[in-house]
Amino acid sequence: MKFAYAPAPERVRPQLRERYGLFIDGRWTAPKSERYMETINPADETRIAEVAYGDAQDVDRAVRAARKGFERWSKLSPADRAKLIYRIARAITERSRELAVLESLDGGKPIRESRDFDIPTSAAHFFYYAGWADKLEWALRAQRAPEPIGVCGQIVPWNFPLLMAAWKVAPALACGNTVVLKPAETTPLTALALAQIVEEADLPAGVVNVVTGDGATGAALVDHDGVDKIAFTGSTEVGKIIQRRIAGKGKRLTLELGGKAANVVFADAALDQAVEGIVQGIYFNQGHVCCAGSRLLVEESVHDDVVERLTNRIRTLRLGDPLDKNTDIGAINSRVQLEKIRELVRAGIEQGATLVQAECELPARGFFFPASFFTNVHPSHRVAREEIFGPVLAVMTFRTPDEAIDKANNTPYGLSAGVWTAQGSKNMWVAQHLRAGVVWCNTFNKFDPSSPFGGYKESGFGREGGVHGLREYLKHA
Ligand code: NAP
Ligand code: MG
Repeated sequence: MKFAYAPAPERVRPQLRERYGLFIDGRWTAPKSERYMETINPADETRIAEVAYGDAQDVDRAVRAARKGFERWSKLSPADRAKLIYRIARAITERSRELAVLESLDGGKPIRESRDFDIPTSAAHFFYYAGWADKLEWALRAQRAPEPIGVCGQIVPWNFPLLMAAWKVAPALACGNTVVLKPAETTPLTALALAQIVEEADLPAGVVNVVTGDGATGAALVDHDGVDKIAFTGSTEVGKIIQRRIAGKGKRLTLELGGKAANVVFADAALDQAVEGIVQGIYFNQGHVCCAGSRLLVEESVHDDVVERLTNRIRTLRLGDPLDKNTDIGAINSRVQLEKIRELVRAGIEQGATLVQAECELPARGFFFPASFFTNVHPSHRVAREEIFGPVLAVMTFRTPDEAIDKANNTPYGLSAGVWTAQGSKNMWVAQHLRAGVVWCNTFNKFDPSSPFGGYKESGFGREGGVHGLREYLKHA
């Protein structure tokens, strides 16, 4: 469907370098491999910049720098550490518009989301954890003085590049650790901007190191004996590999992995609000969200009504240029991800589910997929079981609250869930019975630095955010 509206492209252009080195020991350096990779704009497939390919030697340099940095950083007074982390937070706020454009250019997400969510929430995490730096003993009511773990290897995915880095770097620094950050191959630019911010904020050399590269770079970081803790956000598949590789080595580990969240809608819910929550739950960031509400469980008596409202609503979503402020659905992050989404959608059709898709013209270049959902989904269908990580929802029904719980929990994942009902007691009862790290009641995808986030089952272990997130970066907490 076409809409007559004035495009409103964002005009701010971030200052980009043609080529980025690695940020190690407070300096920009060329990779030992002498190799560089391209990062492209997934909305038009053009090259944005060249980024260093860090190999095992570069990871080694970064880990050594982080060890040296640890000697200084962990001995700094907590109040001084706080001041420096506040500086990072303020710099992110000051550069928020530029960072938002960078995030949308590099990863394809709508500028409205990077501007209103990713960047301010990233700054909020640095502000929040800066505030804890000199209050750790109080926060944890510890018997002994809180001690940092040491050098932390932090590996992040491409769906919320700066925010996932903030979730990891901010609490690590607040507790007195130093870090080697490995951003995802397709979205390195905001992590490199964070390195520039760290440089300008005058943090001691080696406290934050950024090594760009690919999966092999991440694996070298995981394998390095000088790393005391690995914090990983990414797929369950890679999380399992990492867990096996470091088994018995005495390294600390937190894993934030995949999800297949149930969004449970009861017949007594405010249906218009619920439909907004369903839309927000699955189409936010093109569905590239680990906690996306990708399985809709709707009470049978309102199934047809909800499906009709949802069909009408997805027709109004605007797909297109991520830098256009009116865009709701931006670009799929990469060609590889687009192929994965297409494959699962084909499987949905072959297995007998019914595809409902917003009719819209897809841009001629770039990676795009329209807002979609499946009805007539059986719990055994691949679209009901596997993480699609795209704008594709699987709709199923239930008759009783017990059946809703059984179906919602019938997954190896357990990251998040949503419940929609007008009855407070039902909300609480369902929330208590869902095996998920976060349960949103009459809302979805709400985040705050003060609340913990993390999984059950194959969605991983450990928590990020809140006081819980601090414990993961201290020795004895
Ligand atoms: P991924 O393939 O697991 O990659 C995640 C990160 O790990 C990337 O930086 C990747 O590098 C790196 N990596 C790949 N292979 C590695 C290895 N053998 N050892 C160490 N590091 C390795 O995941 P993705 O496809 O980028 O991200 C999507 C997944 O992340 C989804 O499953 C999603 O649910 C999950 N996710 C979870 C959360 C959460 O908080 N639970 C949040 C966001 C995303 P390259 O990209 O450079 O190859
Ligand atoms: Mg890119």
